[in-house]
Amino acid sequence: MIVADEPVSALDVSIQAQILNLLKDLQEQQNLTYIFVSHNMSVIRYISDRIAVMYAGKLVELGPKQELLAHPKHPYTELLLAAVPRAIDRRRGHRIVTPGEPPDLAHLPSGCVFRPRCKYAHDRCAEEEPELRELAPGYHVSCHFAEDLSLGGVVPRVKSFPA
Ligand code: SF4
Repeated sequence: MIVADEPVSALDVSIQAQILNLLKDLQEQQNLTYIFVSHNMSVIRYISDRIAVMYAGKLVELGPKQELLAHPKHPYTELLLAAVPRAIDRRRGHRIVTPGEPPDLAHLPSGCVFRPRCKYAHDRCAEEEPELRELAPGYHVSCHFAEDLSLGGVVPRVKSFPA
């Protein structure tokens, strides 16, 4: 198993693609497992089989790539996916910014840590911290209302990088 922490973040996109393809080839040849840490959703979408989403040091969603990208269950994942640059936005020079500010880790909000940025928050979210719970076999989420929300995702299949 190899832990790779932001291994391509400082590289030019064409070099990123070469490194990612090399990692994929090595994984197949050597039967490797990667824990791949990245803030770049395009990279994650290309390299991952399963995705774990973290917010303020907490795991908020974990599941198979196809399901998580197409049908996210946590509002923070939805925000992250909305910020994935699309080809038409790149051509027009648009940059989609995730609204709100990350919390001060020394003064986390009560209840759900994502509450100040969550447009789906209810009173319960301020009073009770959601547990990471299994919604379906192999799929975990930490949101009180995960079953009730209908969140937007992205097309999960990516054949080449950049996506
Ligand atoms: S528990 Fe509440 S505040 Fe937290 S992500 Fe879910 S809806 Fe939003």
